[in-house]
Amino acid sequence: MSHLDNDLSLLGDAARGYLGRTHGLHIGGEDVATRHSYALIDPASGQEFARASEAGEDEVDRSVAAARNALEGEWKALRPHERERRLLKLADLLEAHEREISEVETLCSGRLLANTAGVDVQYSAHALRYMAGWATKLEGQTMRLSVPYVPEGDLRGFTFREPVGVVGAIVPWNVALGIAVWKIAPALSAGCTIVLKPAPQTPLSVLRFARLALEAGIPEGVINIVTGSGSAVGEMLVNHRDIAMISFTGSTSVGRAIAVQAAGQFKKYSLELGGKSPVILMEDADIDASAHAAAWAIFGNHGQNCCAGSRLYVHRSIHDAVIERVAQIANEIELSAPLRPGAAMGPVISRAHRERVSDYIEAGVAQGAKLVAGGRNPEHDGAYMRPTVLAGAESEMTPVQDEIFGPVLMAAAFDTEDEVLSLANDSRFGLGASVFTNDAERIHRMVERLEAGSVWINIHNALDVALPFGGWKESGVGNDLGEASVLAHTRLKASVHYHR
Ligand code: NAD
Repeated sequence: MSHLDNDLSLLGDAARGYLGRTHGLHIGGEDVATRHSYALIDPASGQEFARASEAGEDEVDRSVAAARNALEGEWKALRPHERERRLLKLADLLEAHEREISEVETLCSGRLLANTAGVDVQYSAHALRYMAGWATKLEGQTMRLSVPYVPEGDLRGFTFREPVGVVGAIVPWNVALGIAVWKIAPALSAGCTIVLKPAPQTPLSVLRFARLALEAGIPEGVINIVTGSGSAVGEMLVNHRDIAMISFTGSTSVGRAIAVQAAGQFKKYSLELGGKSPVILMEDADIDASAHAAAWAIFGNHGQNCCAGSRLYVHRSIHDAVIERVAQIANEIELSAPLRPGAAMGPVISRAHRERVSDYIEAGVAQGAKLVAGGRNPEHDGAYMRPTVLAGAESEMTPVQDEIFGPVLMAAAFDTEDEVLSLANDSRFGLGASVFTNDAERIHRMVERLEAGSVWINIHNALDVALPFGGWKESGVGNDLGEASVLAHTRLKASVHYHR
């Protein structure tokens, strides 16, 4: 057995017991079988390891009806601190099932166990606890009014924040459960109910999570999961008349289509989309530390992060030393099956995705960039690809403008602060950006001038549950995380009380 072969004997009993079957939908607390199913493929082997269900229109209708019933029934009747208590319990249960859930997610996505345990389980538990606290802190305003055409009497005004209704959430495969929890936790905290569609490749961890929610005392119908294809099941959700808000994370092209559909139906929507985030190393950056940070900004999660640092701009005075170091890190990364303890990098999500990423590398070379690391793929049935660095990147190159969503870094040198700001902002995306420098005045200037929803200083891709995370430009509309994401799941009601 080669170190690239996923060794399924490493799976614990819980994951093994859960995996090998056709998984139904989760509607109104029940496991619902459908007529059609599809194969789930292990990206590390190209082999089928379980099947998932393809929802049809009937099942989407049933799931929205279950969410509506829960919204008007048991969930609405609970006091806010009861919602809080159950979300806290769910966080504990999730942690207690860390091994099972992280193994299941690793098998579906090819992501490293350390990553699925750290992000999909531990970070999600943290997010659930943070969001749980908001359930008891949603407030309105109180004021005395002066309606000019009601000259006599006493007028008081109040605002209430009410749950927006049934939320339709659609999420990608790159951090499947983690991003699902970014949708579910604020929705439930605000008193909404939800129908969530995971990406077709990664439905199992979120289905398991939905069952844990029942154990935590979250009533049937509050969380519903419908699995299947985006063009069919996703569109049905977006267009369903009883869905009040669409919360989407995925590509810009799908997000654009959803925005048009949702706007036509006057639904609320929040879109967390693609990125092409720059990492900027100024002349005073520590070469070793910042090269290490830049390498893992793109190679972490095999480059499949929305805010991966996929463009690297290095001051000319340190450029050659940094690129040499980043290339060395790339060359030293050992590819390995993701279930293996201590693995540093596993496969990308599928062989089809690997082909797409490889085409971008070829395009970069054809357009004049210089390959300084990677570019070759191992002979294996798994979707493994070597971390790749291309230097001499120019703004017009396709792989500099497009989101690649793989372990491919486009690097370039610059001479001045103005020049690098204009290079960094020369993108249709605006999700994240990072600057490595200790010059305080420069930090203030650059934070202000970078066109991105998140700007990090001396670190890249640091997301905290208390801070809003969202994109500018074609990277999206609205925010996940933080107070902003809870408030987005509410609608304001104004009330006037009149006493003669
Ligand atoms: P994708 O857009 O192809 O799919 C995302 C989800 O939308 C999936 O569940 C898919 O089945 C569904 N979908 C596809 N077509 C649909 C349609 N017509 N109507 C409704 N739903 C549809 O994206 P992906 O390949 O799964 O994920 C990668 C993308 O996600 C990248 O662009 C990445 O940057 C983005 N992403 C963004 C963030 C963020 O927070 N900004 C986070 C993670 C990933």
